Amino acid sequence: MRFLILIFLLSFSFLGNAETIKIGLFHHLNVHSATVTVNSGNYDIFSNDELIGSVTNGDKLIVTHQSGAILLNSLKLKNTSSSKLELIAKDADCELLITPKGKSIKRKISGHLNFWNRGKKMSIVNTQDLDVYISGVVEAEAGSRQNAEYYKVQAVICRTYALANKFKHAKNGFHLCDEVHCQVYKGISESNPDIISSTRATSDVVVVDQDVNLITTAFHSNCGGHTINSEDVWSEAVPYLKAVPDTFCYAMPHSIWNKRIKKTQWMGFFQNHGINFDLDSLSTFDNSKRRVKYNNQLHLKEVRSEFDLRSTLFSAHIENDEIEIDGRGFGHGVGLCQEGAMKMSTLGYDYIEILHFYFSDIHVVPLSNFHLFREN
Ligand SMILES: [Zn+2]
Ligand SMILES: [Zn+2]
Repeated sequence: MRFLILIFLLSFSFLGNAETIKIGLFHHLNVHSATVTVNSGNYDIFSNDELIGSVTNGDKLIVTHQSGAILLNSLKLKNTSSSKLELIAKDADCELLITPKGKSIKRKISGHLNFWNRGKKMSIVNTQDLDVYISGVVEAEAGSRQNAEYYKVQAVICRTYALANKFKHAKNGFHLCDEVHCQVYKGISESNPDIISSTRATSDVVVVDQDVNLITTAFHSNCGGHTINSEDVWSEAVPYLKAVPDTFCYAMPHSIWNKRIKKTQWMGFFQNHGINFDLDSLSTFDNSKRRVKYNNQLHLKEVRSEFDLRSTLFSAHIENDEIEIDGRGFGHGVGLCQEGAMKMSTLGYDYIEILHFYFSDIHVVPLSNFHLFREN
């Protein structure tokens, strides 16, 4: 059984042996025109698979999707109309800046860039080194102010997610999009050199469960002192997403919160769910214990969603005509608590110990070990 699972994992590796990934840029934004500037390096340009020339530092291309064709405009190359336009990076230091027209965003990317006509849409796909992509995701998820060990934790989580979800956009012709739908990617990492070195230091390392399947790497900002079982937030019980007590995230930026809600609003919400709320029962809410439902009737995640609460871990009491909520933590509480992990990394725990603390019965292993297993 385990052998079969390993073969399954192996048979879908990225583009042969090259560790590359295809990222769909601006996928949900419906971009129809973009300016591409070469920041460094040389690129060969192919229009419908035909080489039409090269561009280098400072050259600009304007790419527009119009009437089902990809139009190229540039001072250096002949203008073309095609169904496929490719910028193929020739050097290791190749870097492009891509700016969609009419949007206040831009991306600095390395690797190749493709534009494809897909009927009503234009696909913009960046093919690049997996670890360059991972370091960009780590920067988007964790910011620029963490220590190197924490960046290793985040790199392993983001890599595991990327590999486990690489078919999410198969029908779109790429692996992952650059938005929250997959993992946020805002281009190459530049803000802190530790991000890139930590990603490289953990290159190839992923988290697998007891059956050697890549795990669902759930994480959240701060658990408030207790993580929560996956089945208590989502429908499915997952052996490695089990509740654990966590004191590391106390006294971190998102460890406590407070909110006031009008009593009438509160009562009305419960009424809408067929519950005649007893105000005396407010004292049963307790932010030192994880609890899933109110009176076994209403899931607290619904209360969280209705009142835009940071978490489902809170105490409550009456304050005049309002209900005052004192909460702990930020996020759904399943899997790894980021602020707890950050604290652990400052206390000297290494990334493997941190992953084992938050995920039960897992293995932190290089993916290439699976190849060795297969060869045997
Ligand atoms: Zn996506
Ligand atoms: Zn925590």
